[in-house]
Amino acid sequence: MSCPENELFPISALQHFSFCPRQCALIHIERVWQENMLTAEGRAMHEKAHSGDSETRGDVHIARGLALRSLELGITGVADVVEFHRQPDGSSVPFPVEYKHGKPKEGNCDRVQLCAQALCLESMLKVAVPEGALFYGRSRRREPVALTDALRIETAELCRKVHQLLNSCVTPAPVYSPRCRSCSLYDICMPKKVFISAERYIERFLKKEDDE
Ligand code: SF4
Repeated sequence: MSCPENELFPISALQHFSFCPRQCALIHIERVWQENMLTAEGRAMHEKAHSGDSETRGDVHIARGLALRSLELGITGVADVVEFHRQPDGSSVPFPVEYKHGKPKEGNCDRVQLCAQALCLESMLKVAVPEGALFYGRSRRREPVALTDALRIETAELCRKVHQLLNSCVTPAPVYSPRCRSCSLYDICMPKKVFISAERYIERFLKKEDDE
């Protein structure tokens, strides 16, 4: 499969979808965004990671803010850091490093985002990317991530689901859960409101008219 350029979605949508499909739709279909402390911290950290120039330290060339794309998965994005590790035969192996401002999360969403970057690098550079790392600002530690077949399959499947959602142009109804408390779109989403269909609304309205 090769996705048309105008249907590529940003890699960040994978994380939004994993957090909440409605949040993903609000951001990527309805184009709404609201900053909170967590998103501001994350943005500041990514801006810092993207701001530096490329440099070489020994056998490692470090590229920052590298543009990424995979037409097979239909995704696009910018890598915080990609290290190119020189091999004894003179070739280089890319090693993506994704910066996260918080601490490791439950589930695989950070690893999936990193894997999506690696798959873009493989598609663009035609080289294998066997591993990468996540750097967490809270612990200031690097967590190595093996880009296994299982993680690649999970990433491709998530890309398919995000395309399906975005192509539907339908924003799912809210489902209130504990994650809503840390959601930057809480005030816009109003997850505790009871939504009714337009049909039901008109039905109720007409009934009220009859009663009066
Ligand atoms: S407030 Fe809750 S339901 Fe609404 S977008 Fe955020 S996480 Fe999803």
